[in-house]
Amino acid sequence: MTGAERPAPVVEFVGVGLTYPGPPPVAALRPCDLVVGRGEYVTITGPSGSGKSTFLNVAGLLDRPTTGTYLLDGIDTGTLKERDRTALRGSRIGFVFQSFHLLPHRTATENVELATMYQGGRRSRAERAAGARESLTRVGLGHRLEHTPTTLSGGERQRVAIARALAADPSLLLCDEPTGNLDTATADDVLALLDALHADGMTILVITHDHAVAARGQRSVAIRDGVVSEGAPA
Ligand code: ADP
Ligand code: MG
Repeated sequence: MTGAERPAPVVEFVGVGLTYPGPPPVAALRPCDLVVGRGEYVTITGPSGSGKSTFLNVAGLLDRPTTGTYLLDGIDTGTLKERDRTALRGSRIGFVFQSFHLLPHRTATENVELATMYQGGRRSRAERAAGARESLTRVGLGHRLEHTPTTLSGGERQRVAIARALAADPSLLLCDEPTGNLDTATADDVLALLDALHADGMTILVITHDHAVAARGQRSVAIRDGVVSEGAPA
């Protein structure tokens, strides 16, 4: 051994920036370089309007950067056709949002299962349902499989959303204000779950304006007026 080996990059931004065309044009994300290695837990903090969602949308392949190169798991995403970007997103990225985005009249299992329908591969319905139950059990909801979101607490709903994000066995978990709609005690439970997933080797990127949430990560990145800088927020 010649010292610590660096983990393989999951996210690699090389001069990645995004300017909304306008008019007037808005430089929402200034060109930046950032690497998130496999197994890292990185938080991105900044005030409202600083470019956090823009960053997440680019990292999540929802938006294309207007400059620079984005490699996801070493794949140059800029060269991909829209269909291939969608497939890559479905198989490698799990999203968790502040407002859960669950289907209210479907059970927890169905919510998770539906997310895996758009994946490649040929899993049968029964296999997908079994995977969904496994994913829900992993987030501590093995006893709530047949509950609909309307009968679950906020913290449980967010756990379903996390189970759904994990169902496709992604390389990267992207969370946008994951505790924004939760009270402090419930937020702590959800953050403890993210800690456990990180301990299990998951690569996690959490966007937050909450410094207490940011402190949970291994590494904090600040964003202000679209400028991304390594290190704790000011
Ligand atoms: P945050 O998530 O940190 O609140 P955003 O990434 O949503 O910030 O926005 C960053 C900047 O880009 C803001 O000035 C916002 O008004 C602007 N912006 C966001 N989306 C668009 C868009 N679709 N078109 C033009 N400007 C946008
Ligand atoms: Mg935002």
